[in-house]
Amino acid sequence: MLPSEADLQLLFARLNNEHFQGAAPDCVISYNERFSNSAGRITYGPRPLLIEISPRHLRKYPESLEGTLLHEMIHAWCYDRWRETGHGARFRRKMRDCGMDSIYHDLGSVRSLEESGKRYVLRCEQCGFEALRRRKPGKPASCPRCNKRRFDPRFPLTIYEILDMKPIGTTLEIKQTAARKSSSFGSS
Ligand SMILES: [Zn+2]
Ligand SMILES: [Zn+2]
Repeated sequence: MLPSEADLQLLFARLNNEHFQGAAPDCVISYNERFSNSAGRITYGPRPLLIEISPRHLRKYPESLEGTLLHEMIHAWCYDRWRETGHGARFRRKMRDCGMDSIYHDLGSVRSLEESGKRYVLRCEQCGFEALRRRKPGKPASCPRCNKRRFDPRFPLTIYEILDMKPIGTTLEIKQTAARKSSSFGSS
């Protein structure tokens, strides 16, 4: 059983006391069932900051919860105080202070992902539709699922800026079934 989102919020409060003397900024912690390639994510949109945890990842690695949440909290703390994103010197120093130095030894690959990748998520808060974008939309947009036909101001999309993606492995570790599925798709 996964902890409830209320339990995640309590864990956040405990880690905030233990590692930040309560100085980590307010965050909403929630699950996002759609994540398949990251354990956690922090986005900066409307306040408070939003930290999302992947339930899929957590079911597989229940022991990773505290480390994942702490990782995202360090991002929240760096961003709130110094407007710093990514895994720079301050991030890594804080990570070591929190005793996490060996777990995230492969962070070197993250930076290129962050710099090259899509930086924005457009999300419909009503139906959960999400789209990744490189840029913020240049004109008003509404949810294409809630109203397929035309722009509809009743269904706005919230713009989130992605500040972090935490790697959970490489494509070499993808299970064989998934590879087979994609190759049969290619030949059919
Ligand atoms: Zn929608
Ligand atoms: Zn990170």
